[in-house]
Amino acid sequence: MKKWFPLVFACLPFATQAQTSLPKIPRCGFELVWKQMEQAAPGFREQYDARIQAQLNNPDAQARPTGTVYDIPVVVHVVYYQNGATQKGNLPDSVIRNQIKVLNQAYRKSHADTGNLRAIFKPLSADAEIQFHLATKDPNGNPTTGITRTPTTIQYFGDVAVAMGDISSIERIKKTAAGGADAWNTSRYLNIWIADMRIEFNGQVLPAIMGIARPPVNPLPPNWPAGEAGGLAQMVDGVILQYHAVGNNNPYISELSSFGMGNQGRTAVHEVGHYLGLRHIWGDPDAGQECTPQGDDGIDDTPAQATMTDMQANPPSPTLNTCGAGTANDQPDLWENYMDYSKDNFQSMFTLKQVAHMRSICGNQRDSLFLDTPAPVSVAEVLSQDKALKVYPQPAAQYIDIGFDGKFDRLRIINTLGATVLADDKAGSGIRRVDISRLANGNYYLQVIGGGRSYNRQIVIRR
Ligand SMILES: [Zn+2]
Repeated sequence: MKKWFPLVFACLPFATQAQTSLPKIPRCGFELVWKQMEQAAPGFREQYDARIQAQLNNPDAQARPTGTVYDIPVVVHVVYYQNGATQKGNLPDSVIRNQIKVLNQAYRKSHADTGNLRAIFKPLSADAEIQFHLATKDPNGNPTTGITRTPTTIQYFGDVAVAMGDISSIERIKKTAAGGADAWNTSRYLNIWIADMRIEFNGQVLPAIMGIARPPVNPLPPNWPAGEAGGLAQMVDGVILQYHAVGNNNPYISELSSFGMGNQGRTAVHEVGHYLGLRHIWGDPDAGQECTPQGDDGIDDTPAQATMTDMQANPPSPTLNTCGAGTANDQPDLWENYMDYSKDNFQSMFTLKQVAHMRSICGNQRDSLFLDTPAPVSVAEVLSQDKALKVYPQPAAQYIDIGFDGKFDRLRIINTLGATVLADDKAGSGIRRVDISRLANGNYYLQVIGGGRSYNRQIVIRR
């Protein structure tokens, strides 16, 4: 954040100069999310990094075998400004469908410019075998286009507080009561909102964040505030995109041409990378930690990189090397990577280890997205599932004992917004006692996953 946030702030009092300063405002709000979580639960970042490493090194936590595609259901919420006859940001279906295509080409490594990758990095470029489709059923089981449209009277969701690290004005996009649109069950759909995150200040409209995503955070850190107080409570899971940055056929891209990010629709590719557990390729280091293991992205095969690549470089130098000699496994900066800030037109790849990590997230923290994939079960099976899962006591105050007939792989407790609030990834059988003393009073779903099936039971916590 230190890299860009003072720049944004510096722009604000000099609104008349803002046009010349705009290219320096970066495109992704991930560092703000990161900071918010660290504030809510100090030590979050270290725990998150440790979890990446443990998951990558644990064969039992690995994803489906290579050759098996993860197909993610997506709902796109278009939140557009409407005031009388004036309407802005209500993107047509053709742009949204195009964005899904761009995502699929990136995550299946099937677009035309993969060949532009420098030869030394070609062996690292991988097909993630992850794809995306607009949802065909809504949460009630009814047919849908996978696109919702909500008019709002809020013209610009960003406010000056964003420059101070407070993203609550942008989070309004995810809540109907705040002028946005409520999520669909976030454990079953990747929710993508399209809205206007720009900031109006002193009569100027400043581009702020082009995209922002919440990372997978199951389980919550042990020191997470009781009752989900803190940043995560306001942060609904999913991705927000600035409407200008959607698709590679966007009719409004020229309004942001001075921003310099390019027009290939790769903001969404980058943000979904965060949603699937990836960090920026330069590792968002604290001052003084550039090019060290502490300032790394936690992925072994991405070259060390001190900072983000300039979005204006057209193209960046092939020999650009911000860490250089003395760094372990020194290589040039990999500015073709989707998790950099280089111009859209030059981004073309994920690495093998980035792919392995995203697939591991799909098989673990995000596994509930794929529960619709197994063959439908019969009524008799549903009844036997019901019998297989027992919970005591109900309501519960401090703990629950979960009884299960057979082996299970993992447990989840999900709140009524669809967010996982407790995850236990230890496989077992018989009875498992789970401490729920950190969860607030309310209704939840207990989900037990075993044999490729999900067994669900509503539970109540009251004290
Ligand atoms: Zn980012």
